[in-house]
Amino acid sequence: MTTSRPAGTPALDHRTRVQFLPGVGPQRALAFERLGIVTLEHLVRHTPRAWLDASRFAKVRELRPGELLTVVGEIKHSAALRTRGGRGDFAATLTDGTGTLGLYFFGQSWLARTLPAGTRVVVSGELSPGPERQMMNPMFEVLEGELEDLLHAGRLVPVHALTRGVTARGLRQAIRRALDAIADTLPDPVPAKLAAERGLMSLGQALRDIHFPANDAAREAARQRLAFEELFQMQMVMELRRRVLKEEGHALALAGPGTLAANVRASLPFTLTEGQESALADIVGDLARPRPMHRLVVGDVGSGKTVVALLAACAAIEAGQQAALLAPTEILARQHGASLTRLAAASGLPVAVLTGSSTASERKALQARLDALEPMLVVGTHALLEEKLRIPQLALAIVDEQHRFGVRQRAALVGKGVMPHMLVLTATPIPRTLQLAWFGDLDLSILKGRPAGRGRLVTRVTDEGKFPQVIDFMAKELAAGRQAYVVVPNIEEGARADLKAAETEIERLRAQPLLARYELGLLHGRLKTDEKQSVMDAFREGRVHVLVATTVIEVGVDVPNATVMVVENAERFGLTQLHQLRGRVGRGEHRSVCVLIAGGMSSAKSRERLAVMATTDDGFELAEADLRLRGFGELWGTRQAGLPDLKLADLARDEAILEAAREAGRALVAADPHLLSGEHQALRGMLRERFREPLEMALAG
Ligand code: ADP
Ligand code: MG
Repeated sequence: MTTSRPAGTPALDHRTRVQFLPGVGPQRALAFERLGIVTLEHLVRHTPRAWLDASRFAKVRELRPGELLTVVGEIKHSAALRTRGGRGDFAATLTDGTGTLGLYFFGQSWLARTLPAGTRVVVSGELSPGPERQMMNPMFEVLEGELEDLLHAGRLVPVHALTRGVTARGLRQAIRRALDAIADTLPDPVPAKLAAERGLMSLGQALRDIHFPANDAAREAARQRLAFEELFQMQMVMELRRRVLKEEGHALALAGPGTLAANVRASLPFTLTEGQESALADIVGDLARPRPMHRLVVGDVGSGKTVVALLAACAAIEAGQQAALLAPTEILARQHGASLTRLAAASGLPVAVLTGSSTASERKALQARLDALEPMLVVGTHALLEEKLRIPQLALAIVDEQHRFGVRQRAALVGKGVMPHMLVLTATPIPRTLQLAWFGDLDLSILKGRPAGRGRLVTRVTDEGKFPQVIDFMAKELAAGRQAYVVVPNIEEGARADLKAAETEIERLRAQPLLARYELGLLHGRLKTDEKQSVMDAFREGRVHVLVATTVIEVGVDVPNATVMVVENAERFGLTQLHQLRGRVGRGEHRSVCVLIAGGMSSAKSRERLAVMATTDDGFELAEADLRLRGFGELWGTRQAGLPDLKLADLARDEAILEAAREAGRALVAADPHLLSGEHQALRGMLRERFREPLEMALAG
């Protein structure tokens, strides 16, 4: 089994604790534990963060400063030194017949024992500046066997995450020993048949090559193999979840005549776009089945997702059930409440709003209606998720702006009912790889196109110097009866500086003679809810002409008469966020302009990033660009998705691998939905261990 084993027994397996690996022992095992390394399997799976390319060999005479090169030679002189400060250093000289190289190691006087005169050694490093041929703290290794067996120098040298008590050399040594002991017997989560079909290299080979690759090609091949395995496991989780949710869950089929929806439609001041119709058809089809819907609707900013959600809710309400719509901000919840009430008014569909600022008596009244099983749509913020709120007849849970909510919140809302249908809306276009990786358990509808009759939306990138021209332009739009937003970045979530930035900005705008005739409003996160609401109302009703805001207005806000969006210090925003902001204009019939002002301190690179905004108004393209330019970590926290980090797979590059992993996962789950067959036991065990929480239901029983 895993732990205690008489010392000296040679058999090591993947579950053996690292302390039993020769050269480790209980003391260092404790240090390893800080790296999450308990067993030999953990050790060989502690993959490098980077590799230093010290594979180019040279003669001492050929060494040049600024190049990482490796020499092979013999130690001539070797001495421990004590500095005046009392530090023990080590100095040596090395020769290879073409010249002499000085070696100096700070604080490592013990090396005098490792590298006495006469030792054959391999040294990798860069020459220090100066007239003498010398390297400071180079990588090195005593040459005992073949050059191919080197671990610490003269090769692609792996750089692993370390901790106090674990040195780079000690760790490499331990990994090498563990690889020798268990790499070929380590259980592979990829079933043998699948590995053979896909022509994957063996897991043992991949692990050897990821730690100690012979060259870049070998390393990349190993990375791809391990990335496949990572993504395959993740896709298995998605697929298993999807299967239980969709095929084994029981939900109420909402398949009424659709009269309520037809009435609401008839009262709409517009007809639905093709994209809306097709997303709605997907949804109506799902709702009519006695299996819980789990659908993600991805539609660009302004594509009209709200009305799709409303029509979906009609199906629940018509069936005498309740529906809930969760929105990320109070402003948005209230706006949804107001616009849905308006849209639904003619058909008598009951809509209620619940937010953090709802009074106790409002809550009580709402709860009474819900408890009386009154069919209705309740729209709200996080307040909807509060434990004490009951939605006993919840048949449809809708989550707006999914990217603002984690899996846990999704689950909390769904938990208000007994397996309700779930609809997730997002305006943040998710690059396809992320969609597959993280929302792979949801069915997907892409809401294409935008409602007709919208004016053109133009984006300009400029800098602080052009501020007067920006004001000039804004004043012309205001004179024509339009409205404008000016957005400043949140310096720090909830910080005072945030407030200051918005206040400073509004003062600066008030000082502009061209804007003197206009009413300016201020909106930021520090305002009380009713203050926010009254500023928003004033803007919506046209009493405030220019709204100066922090990113509180980022999502969802809908004021069609606004045609100018000015973003200050635009370089501080992500492209998807800018796209959201830009989506606040271009909502009416008039031409709109979004002006992105790069701050004085912004780098050339960030300006280049902004320039992408002007080249496309396709949210998906921007999301892809953002993913490439900033990496997904910054955009999508993995914790939010509730899944472990990917170590070797790179969603910005590995789309093909992801597709393959997904296809393999689907086929496997279709063939063996509960992973009961003998050849899938290793995989089943590993998935259970790694993904306990999300898989609880899927693998139970
Ligand atoms: P988003 O997809 O960003 O959530 P909204 O649902 O807020 O978009 O819709 C944006 C605006 O477009 C709203 O004013 C809404 O009433 C309007 N709208 C929605 N669908 C249509 C349509 N088919 N034709 C015209 N206007 C529409
Ligand atoms: Mg919306």
